[in-house]
Amino acid sequence: MIEFKNVNKYYGNFQALKNINVTFNQGEVTVILGPSGSGKSTLIRCINALEEITEGELLVQGKNVHDKKTDITAIRKNVGMVFQHFNLYPHKTVLENIMLAPVKALKQSPEQARKTAEELLEKVNMLDKKDAYPAKLSGGQQQRIAIARGLALNPSVLLFDEPTSALDPETIGDVLDVMKKLAKEGMTMIVVTHEMGFAREVSDRTIFMADGEIVEDRPSEEFFEDP
Ligand code: ADP
Ligand code: ADP
Repeated sequence: MIEFKNVNKYYGNFQALKNINVTFNQGEVTVILGPSGSGKSTLIRCINALEEITEGELLVQGKNVHDKKTDITAIRKNVGMVFQHFNLYPHKTVLENIMLAPVKALKQSPEQARKTAEELLEKVNMLDKKDAYPAKLSGGQQQRIAIARGLALNPSVLLFDEPTSALDPETIGDVLDVMKKLAKEGMTMIVVTHEMGFAREVSDRTIFMADGEIVEDRPSEEFFEDP
């Protein structure tokens, strides 16, 4: 459903992605590991066109993401994203943060969007905080809200860019539990993370990047078996 074909990406003269050839399949949970600066974030940000590729081809459900004729809004509806720093709207309540996209992008009525938002909050165990403002919540709680928001347009894939790296250790577990639940439900997920436990126990596939290249791409059980 997501296919990189000979993709290169430059920032100025610096090559951040080198000849990337990889396919991500429906229902798969993939973890991307690798040192800081190896291109992990750039790779996933290309999928929903937050970054442009320089050369090659990138298809999301058959659509060429970086073709001028492609409707980027349609791609972004299909590809949800969860960031390291949550990116919630501070002046909106938890419920309003999640309702926004369904109202704007899907033209749902406020009643419909509220129902969608409440169901998603239930899923991430945050319904009791629906009227709170983000600043009143812990990092882990805010990240669970961000996951609910990422799901609000009913995407077929959810991207995570180091979702637990900015969290206090005691709140990481709750976020990982929500991610595990989504994985069990069959959500297609691509996760940049340093959480080895999650990678080993939950993911189907592990990709290791170094210097802009994919240097390993294996089933996770194999990846974590060999020395
Ligand atoms: P990772 O997620 O593995 O830490 P990134 O994809 O964030 O790596 O970055 C890969 C490389 O590209 C790094 O060397 C980084 O400094 C560089 N880079 C990322 N974004 C930009 C940018 N907007 N402009 C210039 N260089 C960038
Ligand atoms: P995060 O880990 O939350 O993605 P980063 O520090 O990697 O944050 O990047 C934050 C922003 O800075 C991104 O938009 C990225 O593209 C940009 N960036 C990262 N590295 C560089 C760089 N070397 N030069 C210019 N911009 C960069």
